[in-house]
Amino acid sequence: MFARSAFRAAQPLRMHARRFATETGPSAAQQAAKPAAAAPKAAPAPPPAGGGGGSNVIAYVFGAAALGGGYYYYSTQAGAAPKQPAKPAFTGGDQGFLPLKLAEVIDVNHNTKRFRFELPEKDMVPGLPIASAVLTKYKGENDAKATLRPYTPINDENEPGYVELLVKQYPGGPMSTHIHNLQPGQTLDIKGPLPKYEWAENKHDHIGLIAGGTGITPMFQLARGIFQNANDKTKVTVVFGNVSKEDILLKKELEELENTYPQRFRAFYVLDKAPKEWQGNTGFITQELLKTVLPEPKSDNIKIFVCGPPGLMKAISGAKVSPKDQGELSGALQELGYSKDQVYKF
Ligand SMILES: Cc1cc2nc3c(=O)[nH]c(=O)nc-3n(C[C@H](O)[C@H](O)[C@H](O)COP(=O)(O)OP(=O)(O)OC[C@H]3O[C@@H](n4cnc5c(N)ncnc54)[C@H](O)[C@@H]3O)c2cc1C
Repeated sequence: MFARSAFRAAQPLRMHARRFATETGPSAAQQAAKPAAAAPKAAPAPPPAGGGGGSNVIAYVFGAAALGGGYYYYSTQAGAAPKQPAKPAFTGGDQGFLPLKLAEVIDVNHNTKRFRFELPEKDMVPGLPIASAVLTKYKGENDAKATLRPYTPINDENEPGYVELLVKQYPGGPMSTHIHNLQPGQTLDIKGPLPKYEWAENKHDHIGLIAGGTGITPMFQLARGIFQNANDKTKVTVVFGNVSKEDILLKKELEELENTYPQRFRAFYVLDKAPKEWQGNTGFITQELLKTVLPEPKSDNIKIFVCGPPGLMKAISGAKVSPKDQGELSGALQELGYSKDQVYKF
């Protein structure tokens, strides 16, 4: 059963698999057709080089103050060019939580919405290095203690004025329910940055991003950061598992990247409950699929990132023990020959 479904899944991929190495950049036509959202811009100052850091929801290290002066954005008005230093909203250190006003709610699907929160000043950018999250806090009237949950903003770090969260509501989940119940004009306490994996341009030649459900948000942040930086030539392969087609979050944004950078960005979608017309992969993300599409473990300077629900983590990489402890590598990636230091669990 496993072998059969894996074989089926892998078949349509053979022609695409690992073809990056022999290809060059996008054609002139593709470059010209680049959507503004995906076009390379001045990148935020890269964070200091270094390995993937652990992170800790409670005892996290705020490094943003040092990054504060390094964020820039470009005016989008033609001719109004000079690069302006942008003020970061989240500066870490002892800044504490910022009560940010909800400006807009956008429906995504039956259980997920996008929430746009205004930054304290219109010309501020979030100031979140790649890859990092924010921490939210909420204490209901009858709650003994506050609920704290991390989220990975999905809006463009270079666009000033707001921070946007993509939040899936879990039945009975205190924070996701609280956020879904918020009305425009109300505030949410948000603090950041919550550093995850420190990215620097060309840190790796090729990365694999394996995500399930809302686990796509840190992957998208990372991929967009890479493709917004014209100097960053990293190749990116996404394997994204979901229950149904409606659950595929950020599909449009991922397709924009794929259409704009077909030689450097590939996304493979896997659906557990696929509709009849579905041409992608079905079932769970299998070892065979990963073997076919990911950069090989013996390749130089690759990294595989994993983020998703507990079942996915267990099957693909083994669970993360704590925000500071990545835990041992097990599951499909270990069986395929990847080493612990080639894998990062968000
Ligand atoms: C670094 C980081 C970034 C995150 N970014 C996002 C994001 O951008 N968008 C987003 O919606 N969530 C994100 N999450 C998950 C988020 O922090 C909360 O865990 C989630 O919103 C549920 O919180 P809750 O208080 O509503 O429910 P909880 O009480 O925490 O959980 C309710 C139920 O849902 C289950 N559950 C919780 N999280 C998940 C999950 N990810 N997959 C499957 N089942 C789960 C729990 O096991 C429990 O049964 C992120 C988590 C981390 C660690």
